[in-house]
Parts: sequence; C-alpha cells; structure tokens
Amino acid sequence: MTRLLDTGLSGTGATGTGPFDFELLDPHLRTLQRYVRTEAPALRAAAREVDRHPDGSTLYPQVPLLDRLATLQIPGPYAGDPLIVEGREYPLLSAMERVVFHEEAAAHGDASILLCAPGSLTAGMLVAALGDEAQQARFFTTLRSAPAWTFLAMTEPQGGSDATALRTTLEPAPGGDGFLLTGTKRFIGNAHRARTGVVTVRTGPGPLGIRCALVDTDVPGVTAAPIDTLGMRGALGAIAFDRVPIPAENLLGGHLPATRRGMWGWLHSFNLLRCVAAAMAVGLARAVHDHLAAHGLAPARLAPLAARIHRVRALTHHAAGAVDADPATAHLPAAAKTAAAELAEHTTARALELLGPGARLEHPLLDKWARDAHGFDPMEGTAHVQALTVFASLRR
Ligand SMILES: Cc1cc2nc3c(=O)[nH]c(=O)nc-3n(C[C@H](O)[C@H](O)[C@H](O)COP(=O)(O)OP(=O)(O)OC[C@H]3O[C@@H](n4cnc5c(N)ncnc54)[C@H](O)[C@@H]3O)c2cc1C
Repeated sequence: MTRLLDTGLSGTGATGTGPFDFELLDPHLRTLQRYVRTEAPALRAAAREVDRHPDGSTLYPQVPLLDRLATLQIPGPYAGDPLIVEGREYPLLSAMERVVFHEEAAAHGDASILLCAPGSLTAGMLVAALGDEAQQARFFTTLRSAPAWTFLAMTEPQGGSDATALRTTLEPAPGGDGFLLTGTKRFIGNAHRARTGVVTVRTGPGPLGIRCALVDTDVPGVTAAPIDTLGMRGALGAIAFDRVPIPAENLLGGHLPATRRGMWGWLHSFNLLRCVAAAMAVGLARAVHDHLAAHGLAPARLAPLAARIHRVRALTHHAAGAVDADPATAHLPAAAKTAAAELAEHTTARALELLGPGARLEHPLLDKWARDAHGFDPMEGTAHVQALTVFASLRR
C-alpha cells in the first residue's frame, strides 16, 4: 500500500507514453516498468508461435526477457545476478516487483507465454517456504545457472479446488529406504517440460498428512504429456507417477513443526501467486484495450473499459503491497484475482463485440487473447474458491 500513491483515474502519467502510466508507482517500480515495456514486445511473436504449435513439448521460446526472468525470483543466498536497470537492483522477490513485471510483460507482450517460461515461480515459492538449507541449495543452484523449467503439481483428475482431497500417495518404500510416489496430476504448468518440480502428496490421514516432495522427472515410473487446451496453449501438462522412488531427503518441511510442513506453506505461497495471476490478467486486458485503440476505437467508447482496468489494477497493486507487508494476507489477493479474471474475460468479449462480426478472423491476436482469458478463473483457484477465501479471511 505504501507504494500505491494514487488509485484514481485522473492521471495521465509523467512519461506520457500511454493511458496506464499514471503516478501509481514509485520511481523504483516505474524503472522496472519501463524496462519490461521495452523488452516485452518480443514475447508476442513467440506466443503466437506456441499458440500455433502447442505440442512442441520441449519447445522453449528463446526470448531474452524470459531468459532473464528464469534466473530471477530466487531467494537470498542462492540468487544469481540480479536484474539491474539504471543502477537499481530487481531480484523480483517482492509481490510488488513481480506484479509490475508480469503485468507489463502481459500488457506489451503476452500473458500465456509467461506460463510456458522456465524459472522458479510456483515451485520455488514452495521450496523457499518448506525446504531446508540443503533442499533449497539443490533446487535453486541448478536454476540460477541456466534457464530450466520447474512445476508445482497439486491438481488431480478428480478435482483441484479441494486441495485436501488429494489422492497421490507417498508411502514408505519396502526396506525403509525412502518412499514410493503414486498418483496422477493434471493441468500442471510445464509438467511436460520440467526435469524437476514439487508434488503435493498424502503421507497419512488428515490435514497434517499432506506434504510436498521434490520430484525429478527423469526417473523410471514418471510419464508426462502436454494437454491440448483452447487457451493458454502449450502451458499445461499431465504427469503420472507409478511407484516412483523418492529419496527421504526430497520430502520438504521435515525440519519444521508438524503444523507448518504442508498446507501452511502453500496457503501462504498462494497469496503471492494470486497477485501475480491477477497482474497477468490485468496486463492481458490492457493489451486488448491498446489493441482496440490502435484500431481506431475512439477514447470515449473505450472509457468504460479503461476505467474498469484501472480499478482492478489498483486493487491488484493494493493486494501486492498488502502481501509484502504481511504474507498471510489472503482476502485481497483472492479478491484481486477474481476481479482480474472477470476483467480479462469481459474485456476480450467486449472487444470482439466492438470490432464486429469476423473479429476473431481479422484479429488473430485478439482471438488468442479471448481464448487465453478463460484460463485465469481456474488458475490458482476458481472464483468460488476465492470467495470462500475472502469470506474465511474477513471472518477471522
Ligand atoms: C492456466 C492454468 C494453469 C494452471 N496451473 C496449475 C499448476 O501449475 N499446478 C496445479 O496444480 N494446477 C494448475 N492449474 C489447475 C487449477 O489449479 C485447477 O483448474 C483449479 O484448482 C480448479 O480445479 P478443477 O479444474 O479440477 O475444478 P474442480 O475443483 O473440479 O471444480 C469444478 C467446479 O466446481 C466449483 N467448486 C469446487 N469446489 C467448490 C466449493 N467448495 N464451493 C463452490 N464451488 C466449488 C469450482 O469453482 C468449479 O467451477 C492450472 C489451471 C489453469 C487453467
């Protein structure tokens, strides 16, 4: 919140480069915003290529901004070279820096390509929250040396909203040497590309029986394949484990008190991840708005869309500031993610309406964004789940 200087709709921005330049951000974040804005356009061509050929399971779009992102978001002692822009350092660890980066990359590049990117984002959050020193060193050291994909596998074929209903098991291996992992996960970002990731598992009954394990995919018993989706194509995969041997040292959280070993870690991580998902959805809406403006739609006709984008953007920045102040803040990220997912769907639908019949054919990028927009509701939990989070959080 301290970085949020103005949530109004009246500013035109000191840089004067666009309607979304308001005095919303402090100088540190504005410098990051300018950097990403310059680099992001290269993402768009790569995103369209992935959209056309989503089954390239090892395909990695070579875009400098994604390479750079891949070795950021790595905590303290394991961090590689920070991003330095105009003498300022950006490790991209705070919610606010991540939000500005992802929103701008989506607004001037593409949101869905960010989900295909290598790096530590979702899995890294869990390893940072639950990993001991050796686990963190192993996971992050490989990431900082070269771009590599990771995944966080929670959702299962029977449903993802109720994370406590998971069926994937981690049982002691015969002979007492480590564990055996058995189960199936679906809709997992980059599961078909990554060599390592975090899998949520059941080790016993009840909430304390839910844990997270580091899993390498180049071992017998692991099968992974891309999932063909309508939007955010190329991002998601399914991954199955058939009695996969997992060394004991891969079980995360053993050094923590029993109540903090499993769900606690991911509940906290979700607060930040929801801010990032909201930022990407806001960025997508901004991209659509700018596309309409570039195709001659008068500012007056775009004003209601712009106003809604500004409101959701302000809420997202407010949520990120609140999470940076207190990582346990749950209601603001949940509200922002819900509003931003609705915004992305509304903006793309309205754009297709404004451009008239044939818009999907004449504006392939808009067609892609309209398909992508529907990915934001399920991502990090549907609107129903966010509503439950807001309610529980406010009641507390
Ligand atoms: C782009 C994208 C990226 C993703 N990335 C990942 C990832 O990296 N890792 C991962 O593990 N998962 C990932 N997911 C999966 C996502 O987390 C799930 O889709 C989501 O949690 C919903 O689960 P489900 O699809 O199984 O729906 P279900 O849980 O089966 O829900 C079906 C419907 O029931 C509703 N519902 C469920 N429970 C309740 C309730 N208690 N009250 C009211 N309504 C309810 C839901 O809102 C939904 O409308 C991703 C999804 C997308 C689209």
